[in-house]
Amino acid sequence: MALEVIQIPAGDAANFTYLVCDRQSGEAVAIDPSFTPDALLSVAEQEGLQIILLANTHGHRDHIFGNERIIETTGAKLAAHPADLPQADIQLADGDRITVGENSLEVLHTPGHSPGSVTFATGDAVITGDTLFVSRCGRADLPGSNVEDLYRSLQRLKALPPETTVFPGHDYGPQPTSTIGNELETNEFIRCNDLESFIKLRMG
Ligand SMILES: [Zn+2]
Repeated sequence: MALEVIQIPAGDAANFTYLVCDRQSGEAVAIDPSFTPDALLSVAEQEGLQIILLANTHGHRDHIFGNERIIETTGAKLAAHPADLPQADIQLADGDRITVGENSLEVLHTPGHSPGSVTFATGDAVITGDTLFVSRCGRADLPGSNVEDLYRSLQRLKALPPETTVFPGHDYGPQPTSTIGNELETNEFIRCNDLESFIKLRMG
């Protein structure tokens, strides 16, 4: 059985928080608890899931605010890319795999919005944080952002199979999830095929 992604709306900044679970073993990874870690904990409890790890897509406050609450409640270790969260217990790098029951999540280092931004790939879905949203992409004008890196990261995501489901870090689009194929038709940021135009589009 493949990994299942549970999307949970979180807080006033239209964040999403996620549980990625292996139903067979009941193990789950909690991703970006945001401002509503208790909502995440109660969904895990309702679904009979045990949180075995806490992971962050990147280090911005609206994604990591609830980390402490998850850690003190579950004892889970924190996994993140050291460029954003050097204090993480488990320092993630591109190509790493996070075991969840019989399955695993792959880590794709997708810098640009922040230097330590990562995307988690289950095989048929990606959790993209603030790198890719439905109908748009993350900002590249923040401290630590790099627009050229963001362009390259989006080029990498657009090469995924078109049926891959996209689970973004915020509910900024016309619907809460999408697919890579749908974004290739409708998202001007991921459609952009040259760096110069992308810089104008993103920074202009
Ligand atoms: Zn962010």
